[in-house]
Amino acid sequence: MSPNREITIVGAGQSGLQLAIGLLAAGFQVRLVSDRTGAEIAAGRVTSSQCMFDTALGHERALGLDFWADAVPPIDGIAMTILNPPGTPLAGSKAIEWAARLDAPAQSVDQRVKMSAFMAEFVRRGGELVIHEASVEDLEIYTQQSDMVIVAAGKGAIAKLFARDAQRSYFDSPQRALALTYVNGMAPRPDHSAVGYNIIPGVGEYFTFPALTLTGPCDIMVFEGIPGGPWDCWADARTPEQHFETSQRLVSEFLPWEAERCRNVSLTDELGTLAGRFPPTVRHPVATLDSGRKVLGMADVVVLNDPLTGQGSNNASKCAAMYLGSIVKHGDRPFDQEFMQSTFENYWEYAQFVTAFTNSMLLPPPPHVLELFKAAETYSEIGHRFAAAAADDARDLFTWFTDPELAQGYLSGLVAMR
Ligand SMILES: Cc1cc2nc3c(=O)[nH]c(=O)nc-3n(C[C@H](O)[C@H](O)[C@H](O)COP(=O)(O)OP(=O)(O)OC[C@H]3O[C@@H](n4cnc5c(N)ncnc54)[C@H](O)[C@@H]3O)c2cc1C
Repeated sequence: MSPNREITIVGAGQSGLQLAIGLLAAGFQVRLVSDRTGAEIAAGRVTSSQCMFDTALGHERALGLDFWADAVPPIDGIAMTILNPPGTPLAGSKAIEWAARLDAPAQSVDQRVKMSAFMAEFVRRGGELVIHEASVEDLEIYTQQSDMVIVAAGKGAIAKLFARDAQRSYFDSPQRALALTYVNGMAPRPDHSAVGYNIIPGVGEYFTFPALTLTGPCDIMVFEGIPGGPWDCWADARTPEQHFETSQRLVSEFLPWEAERCRNVSLTDELGTLAGRFPPTVRHPVATLDSGRKVLGMADVVVLNDPLTGQGSNNASKCAAMYLGSIVKHGDRPFDQEFMQSTFENYWEYAQFVTAFTNSMLLPPPPHVLELFKAAETYSEIGHRFAAAAADDARDLFTWFTDPELAQGYLSGLVAMR
């Protein structure tokens, strides 16, 4: 226990709150700085589709934060549909289709619901909550008052304090035009609930899954449009109604089987929509203030991936758990630059695989990936293994999925066993 050590965390999102609550449990004094109150977050716009898988949920459970187990609709699997590309005879129809169950259900609790509840819980457990939009000058003050300052501000402007790592960042511009539409009334998938992916070559991706929002269970429609393509079309949707109509139009035009599920949908609320884009970016984890003092970045601040593989909240949870472990293990030694760098590198040892996998999925699928996905229609173990790895541990994908030779070896082994 380190009862006299104080840590300041800037940003009350998935990683900041989870780490703050974990540090309280470990006996630290924690100050959490949030630019919004819990009530403002709850009354604000949706921020994510936040589908979280079992390992990440386990870190919340370990801290006693499993508040919605009975209320949140379970997400039981991953479903994959890949369309025939434009310019081919069967363009627009399904080329590949399979579904696989996850070993444990995933969950999506609207961050408006979750973060406001976690903030109240943080205060209830004795944490100091400061409502303030922290500036770089504030960081100077916090570093004088605390043993360490951690910046967990997500895509907030203050993240730019951390320099982009050109070697670890694969892209320098947004790879998708993103949009979210939270709806009521979507018909369930047959068989079991799932993150239902649709990949439309040259256009983008659409996925959907059940979630829990402010008003109860709902479904989230996620659109990922390739920049300059027909799904890069959200700038004209200025009202919630226009955004909703655009969502309906895109599924009707491109995905008639999904449109069928959407016959009776309506928006959950006026702020149940989001549109935007950002470049996937890896940053150097330690920033130096004018005084020479150091601050440590965490989660999206330092490893920001496109939402295509649904990994950001999972990474944030895993990052918080790893940082917590490193901090507790460090005992009474100073939280110096070396500690900060090694704490991040420990996380990057895992996160680099999520980043590489996500970046690869933003590019057109190579032939061996299409071959594997096609074979998953016949060999259910492929879908099962892909679902488990893509959801919960991307490291496994680098032993059979990402590399053409490894994929060939894996497939040959499966065929031989039949
Ligand atoms: C469209 C979309 C869909 C997504 N879908 C998924 C998904 O299905 N699954 C998944 O795992 N991830 C998903 N993500 C990603 C996920 O939401 C994020 O990766 C995750 O929330 C990051 O957690 P974080 O703690 O780093 O930051 P955040 O959760 O973003 O929290 C940062 C907090 O810091 C606050 N803040 C910012 N600046 C300051 C400041 N100066 N002072 C004080 N406070 C500040 C912000 O208001 C915010 O509350 C999605 C993201 C998007 C955009």
